This record gives sequence, C-alpha cells and structure tokens, in this order.
Amino acid sequence: MTACPPVVLSIAGHDPTGGAGIQADIETIVYHGCHACSVITALTTQNTRNVKRVCCQEPEALIEQLRAVIQDIKVDAIKIGFLGSAEIVAALLPLLSEYNRIPLIADPVFAAGGGAQLANDELIQAIKSEIVPRALIVTPNSHEARALDSMGSNLDECAGALINLGCRFVLIKGSHEKTELIVNRLYSASGLIKKSQWPRLPHTYHGSGCTLAASIAANVALGKEIPVSVEEAQEFTWSTLEAGYPPGHGQWFPRRNTVQNES
Ligand code: PLP
Repeated sequence: MTACPPVVLSIAGHDPTGGAGIQADIETIVYHGCHACSVITALTTQNTRNVKRVCCQEPEALIEQLRAVIQDIKVDAIKIGFLGSAEIVAALLPLLSEYNRIPLIADPVFAAGGGAQLANDELIQAIKSEIVPRALIVTPNSHEARALDSMGSNLDECAGALINLGCRFVLIKGSHEKTELIVNRLYSASGLIKKSQWPRLPHTYHGSGCTLAASIAANVALGKEIPVSVEEAQEFTWSTLEAGYPPGHGQWFPRRNTVQNES
C-alpha cells in the first residue's frame, strides 16, 4: 500500500504534558487518518496547572524547517496554533503568501487554561492583520474574539469584523461564557450559519481548542467542506472531552487515542 494519506502541517507550540499544542494536533490528525507534519514555534515549561515559561524558536530556523517540508511534501491543510511572537508571524508571511492555495485553519491562542498570558498586544495585532485575512477559518473562543475585535459589542459583531478582514469562516467557541450550555457559533460572509449547543462538562480541559482546530484541519485535508468539517470536529472533540481524564493536579485532558468518532 503506497497511497499517501492527506497531509496536515501543524505550526504550533510544544506542551511537554502532551495535553495541548503540537502533540494534541498530531494525535488528532493521526486519529483522522491523515499524516501530521509539525513545526514548533515555541517550547514551553508547563504542567496541567499553568504555563510558566515560553521559549520561542528563532524565526529564521522555523522558516527553514517549514520550507524544507513544504517544498518536499504535498501539504493539504495548514493548521496554526500558538505562534509565540509577532516576529514569528512576520517571518511566516512570505511563505503563507507563496502557499496560499493550501487551506489555512487558524486557532488563535492568547492565554493558557491556567490563566498565563500567551500573547502580547503586538502578537494579537499581528494575528488580526496578517493571519486572519489569510485563513479559511479562524476558531477563537469568545475572549479571543473580543481581543481580536475590541470594537465589537457582541460576538456576532466580532465575527463580522473578522470576516470583513478576509477569512471565509469564523467559529466562535462559547466555552468561556457564563452560560449553562456551551454555545459555538459558525459564521460566514452570510452571517451566522450554524449554532451548536453542548452540555457543559464538570471539569476544565487542556487542549480542547487544539483538538477542535486540528480535527477541522484534518477534515478539510480529507476534502470535506467547512460546515461538515466543523460539525464533525465538534462531535469528535466533545467525545474526547466526555471521555477525558486527569493526568495531573490541574486541568483534564481530552482522550484522543481511543474515543470513537460517532459522526
Ligand atoms: N498551545 C500551547 C503550546 C499551549 O500551551 C496552550 C495552552 O496552554 C494551547 C496551545 C491552547 O490550549 P487549548 O487547546 O486548551 O486552548
């Protein structure tokens, strides 16, 4: 059997616990039957409680690693997670422009579940002005959506502003809202196209956003349209969380290895 599975290239940070970041992406991508290529933006010191330190990779080395992969392997989707610094975003731009035919799934990461800030204003602005316009879909949680559009008075307006910047779809995750159910909203240029509600589970989870965005990226690489990719990725992520486990003293992890995708 020599057929090559669809390839997802993940550009994200390393979380040594394995719950979030590039490992979450790789586990999710492989679960979906795709091949994962991975380029690491930053090493972090963290555990299940919080992030203590971030060590960004040299932008030049990062781009060299990306080019080596992308000039050799046919990549079907690119998934972007934690970017580390505005300098890394600036360095990525020529490559993203050159390979703009590859669908880009961008998951903004501004804070760790334990509260540590993972993005300064410069990085947030760089993601807004340079990554959002290039993305097929952006998947912020409600806090990240408000940070990306500080003018928006509600989440519908924030989504509209991001679509106006040039991305085709926005999925705003409602997990950080004080609502009984978690409400995720998918938007396109036509406005809100799908609202999904999920029961709120009793724990907080590390890597749920990474899992969801990587699952969307894998579905896109498999040739699925965004509404289907998002629907199936939410089902998959929900089932990993429902079967989650507490490996340490803090947040729970999604169970990505054995869970059955019901979609
Ligand atoms: N990527 C890295 C390297 C992280 O450390 C974190 C959170 O700490 C995330 C991504 C985002 O994790 P989540 O999927 O829980 O939003």
